[in-house]
Amino acid sequence: MGTACTLIPGDGIGPDITEATLAILEAAGATFDWDRQVAGAAGVQEKGTPMPDETLASIRRTRLALKGPLETPVGDGYRSVNVALRQTFDLYANVRPARDIVPGGRYEGIDIVLIRENTEGLYAGLEHYIRVGDDPQAAAESIALVTRVGSERVIRYAFDYAVRHGRQKVTLVHKANILKFSQGLFRSTGQKIAKEYEGKLAFDERIIDAAAMQLVIDPNRFDVIVTTNLFGDILSDLVSGLVGGLGLAPGANIGREAAIFEAVHGTAPDIAGQGIANPSALTLAACLMLEHIGDRFRADRVRRAVESTIRGGKSLTRDLGGTATTKEFTDAVIAHIT
Ligand code: NAD
Repeated sequence: MGTACTLIPGDGIGPDITEATLAILEAAGATFDWDRQVAGAAGVQEKGTPMPDETLASIRRTRLALKGPLETPVGDGYRSVNVALRQTFDLYANVRPARDIVPGGRYEGIDIVLIRENTEGLYAGLEHYIRVGDDPQAAAESIALVTRVGSERVIRYAFDYAVRHGRQKVTLVHKANILKFSQGLFRSTGQKIAKEYEGKLAFDERIIDAAAMQLVIDPNRFDVIVTTNLFGDILSDLVSGLVGGLGLAPGANIGREAAIFEAVHGTAPDIAGQGIANPSALTLAACLMLEHIGDRFRADRVRRAVESTIRGGKSLTRDLGGTATTKEFTDAVIAHIT
């Protein structure tokens, strides 16, 4: 019997890439005791709600979930289930590793892990309009909430992550030159924590605008990055762009009570049901999950198989310039497992 884990196949291409990932995990000897649940559009269809109680109860019990992409209706309809899950389980750290896997890309040797604070900052949801005279919406105010506790937990997570993964350096990205209070608190909290890791990890800091430029000019100077919510949101897509887009990007949402692992991409409605989706991002998310539960051996085994399949260039899915189906790609990954 393996580790208990909630499995949410998700919507659109979700079920296809989930089955592919399960087959690869099984071939690599990673056994989980899966508890299948629904959410998103599948939740509405089967249980009448995008976030069924059974799904939440399952995550509460297993504290671990692998999640396919979930559909969020634009405009009217239910709120993003992804945001709701983040809030329900207080998933404070969003982890987005980016490595260049596809050969011949714009950059080589990129291996960056971006850790974004996931619950506070400008995305804390503290917004209101201000009435002036007859105009009820004459101004709008959004509060960028930064707390010492919130900063400490995500920055400490970043440092611990760096140590656990044999990384060399943590870069704290901020805008404390202008936002002296909120960004200043995040920065000074980071400086204090960095002292505890002196001798184990190098530490530096960059102002967000300079960091964005340096990431494009010389991304190899970055290793682990930790930053606040809005900056992290933008930089994580920038970093995915350096290594060829969202199709290969895994993500993890980490909290004290649960951790949820997912592909960064969405449900790909344009190719859903065609059996041609690339399962790599979800499979790599499963690797992050294996690392999270301490199974580095199988995480490396699966990651190596995915990377060598892609570098081999023979069985690539359409998004990577090939013609392979999800099944053919999956079989090739399984054949590469050593
Ligand atoms: P998307 O990521 O689903 O698709 C963007 C493009 O990338 C499409 O052309 C798609 O075919 C392609 N693509 C994405 N994943 C792929 C894969 N694994 N293999 C091959 N091609 C792939 O983004 P979108 O179209 O903006 O969003 C569609 C839906 O997904 C929306 O309902 C959105 O709310 C949802 N979404 C969910 C999540 C999540 O659950 N984490 C994240 C982003 C978007």
